[in-house]
Amino acid sequence: MATEERCPCGSGRALSACCGPLHAGKAAATAEALMRARYAAYVLGDTAYLRATWHPDTCPQELGGPTRWLGLRVLHCDGGQAGDSEGTVEFVAAFREAGRVRQLHETSRFVHQGGRWLYVDGDLQLRDVGRNEPCPCGSGRKLKHCCGKRVTASPSSGSTTPASGR
Ligand SMILES: [Zn+2]
Ligand SMILES: [Zn+2]
Repeated sequence: MATEERCPCGSGRALSACCGPLHAGKAAATAEALMRARYAAYVLGDTAYLRATWHPDTCPQELGGPTRWLGLRVLHCDGGQAGDSEGTVEFVAAFREAGRVRQLHETSRFVHQGGRWLYVDGDLQLRDVGRNEPCPCGSGRKLKHCCGKRVTASPSSGSTTPASGR
C-alpha cells in the first residue's frame, strides 16, 4: 500500500519511485531533486531528512513550519545540475494555516558539497491565496471551489478538521 502512495512533491510518480529513495539516503542528483525531496519531507514530517540536507551553517535549532501543505510548483532552476557546485530553485508551495490558504514563493540556494546537495537558504515571500485564484493544489479549480472550501466550512480551528493527507 505505502509503496503505491503518490509522492507529495507533485511529480505524479509513486513516492517509492521519486523522493522516497532520497529520504532513505540516496543522494539527490540535482538541486531540484533535493528541493522536491525536502518539500516531500515537510509534508511527511521527516525532520531528520530536513536536517540532513540543510547546510550546517544555516540549519536552525528548531525546525518548525506549516504541516498542511497543498502543493508544490517548481518555476525555475538556475544551475544545480550534476557537476555544478551550486544552484538555485524557484518554487511556489501552498499550505493551510489558521483557516487561510497561504502561498510561499521562494528562491532557494543550494550548494554541492561532499558529494551531496545541501539547502543553504532562500529569499521568500508569503501571501494569502485569494478565493478566486486557481487552487494551488493544481486541480484547475478556483480555491473557493477546491481546497478553500473547507476553510470556510469549518471556521473553528482544530477539532473538526477532516483527516486528510493520510
Ligand atoms: Zn517526489
Ligand atoms: Zn485544491
